[in-house]
Amino acid sequence: MITLALSKGRIFEETLPLLKAAGIEVLDNPETSRKLILATNSPEVQVVLVRASDVPTYVQYGGADLGVAGRDVLIEHGLDGMYQPLDLNIARCRMSVAVRDDFDYAAAIKQGSRIRVATKYTQIARQHFADKGVHVDLIKLYGSMELAPLTGLADAIVDLVSTGNTLKANHLVEVEKVMEISSRLVVNQAALKLKREPLRRMIDAFAAATTS
Ligand code: AMP
Repeated sequence: MITLALSKGRIFEETLPLLKAAGIEVLDNPETSRKLILATNSPEVQVVLVRASDVPTYVQYGGADLGVAGRDVLIEHGLDGMYQPLDLNIARCRMSVAVRDDFDYAAAIKQGSRIRVATKYTQIARQHFADKGVHVDLIKLYGSMELAPLTGLADAIVDLVSTGNTLKANHLVEVEKVMEISSRLVVNQAALKLKREPLRRMIDAFAAATTS
């Protein structure tokens, strides 16, 4: 049995065509079913639904043989015990620095002020500001980061941006792009040895179906 870990939403939806290219069709719809283990048309393949940030944990410890996770999630988690064979080029967005539209970010940086940055992505943010030589105090949040500059909790946030609508609705502006984000396929290293043939076939089918 091969177990693939996916998160609901964009990653699940955008992985379906890649599975189809590998001849695999998921038999349940996660939006209507409460099941967490989804069967497929292949008796040897099942899909488990986990939180996006738990995908690397499942794959690292072998709770799943492979999984799909965003570059952001993988950088924050680290790649221990995993092999990252493929950028699937799905669930694309960017990681950016954003501030209130009345905050002069460029001036604050120029003056060398210490700025307070709220984010869920502390590793990525720490590295970004260290590379730029900007002094920051990082504040870890688990959600609704847009609220932090509006309430005075922080001067800036580091968050994922897709259309930019969420920032706009909260009077925030993007002032710096940190990195491009897309989702990647990760494979448990031990599984790749033990289940080499079926996993290779799946990875190759995903690679052939991935658009660059
Ligand atoms: P948008 O309003 O389209 O710019 O989307 C921004 C909101 O969606 C933020 O709350 C982000 O955290 C979230 N978001 C955007 N793209 C992604 C993605 N690829 N994966 C996870 N969350 C995302």
